[in-house]
Amino acid sequence: MARYTGPSCKLCRREGMKLFLKGDRCFTDKCSYDRRPYPPGQHGQRRIKFTEYGIRLREKQKVRRVYGVLEKQFRGYFKEADRVKGVTGENLLSLLERRLDNTAHRLGFGRTRAEARQLVRHKHVTVNGKIVNIPSFLVNEGDVVAVREKSKAKAVFQEAQAQVERRGTPEWLELDSANLSGTVRAMPNREEITLPIQEQLIVEFYSR
Ligand code: SF4
Repeated sequence: MARYTGPSCKLCRREGMKLFLKGDRCFTDKCSYDRRPYPPGQHGQRRIKFTEYGIRLREKQKVRRVYGVLEKQFRGYFKEADRVKGVTGENLLSLLERRLDNTAHRLGFGRTRAEARQLVRHKHVTVNGKIVNIPSFLVNEGDVVAVREKSKAKAVFQEAQAQVERRGTPEWLELDSANLSGTVRAMPNREEITLPIQEQLIVEFYSR
């Protein structure tokens, strides 16, 4: 259950775009990327010319960092996406979206994916009435993801709900905000993933 524990803002600066890893802070003038929109480190401000390989690598790293997945697990998702029917890149994004920590974040049970992941680990989230504390658990059509009854009064959920009201929930999820629960209406499709990702580059990266 390893995860990245270093500074999040450096990741945005490395990828050259806002990855929104810090919740509300990302929308304030404290955002490090807005202040210093160049890669971290001593040579960060030098002009970088990416190779073909570099372009594909950065795209893969970007997606990995958005979803908080380490390389080995990400490669596993790619293998699975490649194995099943359909377009590999779209399958990959769909698998990542179906992760329980991402689903909980999308439903407003955590201001960031990292926070949602911790709340899942700490047994605050249930799937079909049963506690599931595995962030990589994949939700399926018809599943009901909810905050455990005992945890509903926690301030963190109220704050995250306020954020989701502004952000909105994707079409593939139906949120019952009053009961802090949500239903998976359908499998997520590509159009609902609004991040500027060129998944084809990731497929090309692993197909070298
Ligand atoms: Fe990225 Fe800015 Fe959010 Fe930091 S505050 S994680 S740099 S978007």
